[in-house]
Amino acid sequence: MKTKVPPLDLQAEFREIRPEFTERARRIFASGRYILGAEVNEFERNFERFIGTQYAVGVASGSDALLLSLMAFGIKEGDEILTTPFSFIATATAIARLGAKPVFVDIDPDSFNLNAALIKRKITKKTRGIILVHLYGNPCQMDGIMSVAKRYDLFVIEDCAQACGATFRGKQVGSFGDFGAFSFYPTKTIGAMGDAGAITTNNKELYEKVKRLHLHGEEKRNNSSRSYLHAAIGINSRLDEIQAAVLNVKLKHLAKWNQARRKAAERYDKLILRAGLAMIEIPKPNSAGKTVYHQYIIRAPKRDQLLAHLCSLGVSAGIYYPIPLHLQPCFRYLGYRRGHFPVAEQASREVLSLPLYPQISSREQNHVISSLSKFFKKTNI
Ligand SMILES: *Cc1c(COP(=O)(O)O)cnc(C)c1O
Repeated sequence: MKTKVPPLDLQAEFREIRPEFTERARRIFASGRYILGAEVNEFERNFERFIGTQYAVGVASGSDALLLSLMAFGIKEGDEILTTPFSFIATATAIARLGAKPVFVDIDPDSFNLNAALIKRKITKKTRGIILVHLYGNPCQMDGIMSVAKRYDLFVIEDCAQACGATFRGKQVGSFGDFGAFSFYPTKTIGAMGDAGAITTNNKELYEKVKRLHLHGEEKRNNSSRSYLHAAIGINSRLDEIQAAVLNVKLKHLAKWNQARRKAAERYDKLILRAGLAMIEIPKPNSAGKTVYHQYIIRAPKRDQLLAHLCSLGVSAGIYYPIPLHLQPCFRYLGYRRGHFPVAEQASREVLSLPLYPQISSREQNHVISSLSKFFKKTNI
């Protein structure tokens, strides 16, 4: 039988949460309360405890978590926000959606994260804040970024979409900046069964702003009655009860699942070394933190041919991301060109993600590495 290695195994994850989730779902369906009920409230309190922030707000997606964080700072046309050119598109479109300008700062070649040393020279009078991304689950070097932000009075939003559970100097990501923005898209380290997200903060004023903005800017309700008074223009972005129930159950498994990811990553490291694949660069996670390996990223020569070869052998490898943000057609108006961010551009040509998920078996991992070896034998590199 041909071995197939999927990119992830969400059915296996479901089997682990099934009894408790099914009971919660039954209660929700029977209650008739599908929006802003007990599950969402429980999740927000659970998530505050997990991340170690004073406040958490459930929202509809990670993209909305970023957008609402910027809205809470009143970001508008003319403002500049510093961010990485090497991320998922949502990191930068959140800025552009509000009419503000994404100003890219190149990445560090080892971590693929925003290079803190390059931030300073991009700061202008219009700069309001920084959106950093803990890419692939690997925490950013927070000391450097937080100290520049403090010196120049910039806000910091952490895009934690790929990094739920990762820590830096023992503290959870999402607890360093003014806001942590989380996605629970199904493929993330903790995924809902649809779209979902959350925002974390330690700032009471910002928390209250987000609380209003995600419910159409409606002013505080008195007890249970609504005010229908709108001082600010908000959006509708809620976490729903069913997704909150999934997350309440999955949160109890997250530490164990992230640990399994780290073990599988260590195993890949060893297998690649043992196979003598010196042409492959293995990940270099932040030594002051703990990555959660949302992706296991290698750099490899002849990356596109290698990807096709792996796919032909049933290995679901992937590329995150083949086009850096400054070269996306939607950002052409910003005037960036090839060559502006060489480190991000090189990364987009070389990175390859090997399948990694908590339930991956040794047999599957062996198949991935033997498929890699075959390619380099064949191509004589
Ligand atoms: C997934 C992701 C998002 C967007 O999250 P959604 O829940 O899909 O809206 C934002 N930033 C990064 C880095 C992501 O990986």
